[in-house]
Amino acid sequence: MNPEHLELTIGWLYPTLMSTYGDRGNVICLQQRAQWRGIRVNVLPLDQQTRADQFHQVDVFMGGGAQDRQQEIVMRDLRGAKADALREKLETGTPGVFTCGSPQLLGHYYEPALGQRIEGLGLLDFVSKHPGLDARRCIGNVVFELTASPLAQDLEQMLGRKPIVIGFENHGGRTYLGNVSPLGKVVKGYGNNGEDGMEGAFYRNAIATYSHGPLLPKNPFIADWLIQTGLKQKYQTPITLTPLDDTLAKQARAAMLKRLSLTNLAQEPVNC
Ligand code: GLN
Repeated sequence: MNPEHLELTIGWLYPTLMSTYGDRGNVICLQQRAQWRGIRVNVLPLDQQTRADQFHQVDVFMGGGAQDRQQEIVMRDLRGAKADALREKLETGTPGVFTCGSPQLLGHYYEPALGQRIEGLGLLDFVSKHPGLDARRCIGNVVFELTASPLAQDLEQMLGRKPIVIGFENHGGRTYLGNVSPLGKVVKGYGNNGEDGMEGAFYRNAIATYSHGPLLPKNPFIADWLIQTGLKQKYQTPITLTPLDDTLAKQARAAMLKRLSLTNLAQEPVNC
C-alpha cells in the first residue's frame, strides 16, 4: 500500500499522569518513524476526558511509567466501559508498549509501598508488589534478550540477529508472572523482580516492560514492529516499512553496551 494512504492513531494512556523517565519519548519515536515514511499520524490522549468508544480508533497504544499515587488516580478512571474497551482492543491484537507503572495496572493488581492494593485490569496474568519503603528500588541500566514469540522471531528476521534490548529501570514494585510469556531474559539489571531473571511480559501484541529510557529510541526496531503490526491489523494487509538510517541509534547502543562491558552483544550488522 502507498504510505501516503496510510494513517496511524497512537493512543497515549493518561499522558499527564503516566510519563515518568521520559516515556513520552516513545510517542515521539513512533510518530516520527511513521511520518519519516510518509504515514499520517494522530496522537490521541486517553484520559479522564476520553469516552470509552474513542478507544476503538487506536492502532497502537502507549502507556508510560507513574508514581504509586498517580497509578491509583488512573485506576479510578480506567474501569467499567473504558477498561472493557482497552481489554477488547488488546485481546483482539491491537499492539501496544507499556512501561513500568502502566503494565502493573494491566495485571491482576499492584500493591504499592503505602496504601491500598490497586486492582488492575487482570488482562495479563501477573501480580506486582512493592516490598515496602525500606526495600531497595530496582534502579539502573537494564539489558535483556527479547525472547517472547512470535515477536522475537519477527525482530530476528528484521535485524538478522537476536534482539537485544537496552534501557533504564527505576521501580519499587516487583512483578511475578503467572501463565503469561516473559518478554525477555535479563542480561544485566533487575528485570521484573531481581530474582527470576525474567523481564516484562508479552500477550497478544502487547509489550509490557520495566524498561524506560525511553525504550523505543534506544531500540528503534521495536518501534518499527509496533507501527507495522498496527497498520497490518488496521488494513488487514501485509505492510513493509522502508528502512531508515539508524546510524545514531546504532552508535548509542554500541556506546551503552561498551559502557556496560557487554561488547560481545554489540556485533550489530549494518541493517541495525
Ligand atoms: N510506581 C511503580 C513502582 O514503583 C512504577 C514506577 C514507574 O513507573 N517507574 O514500581
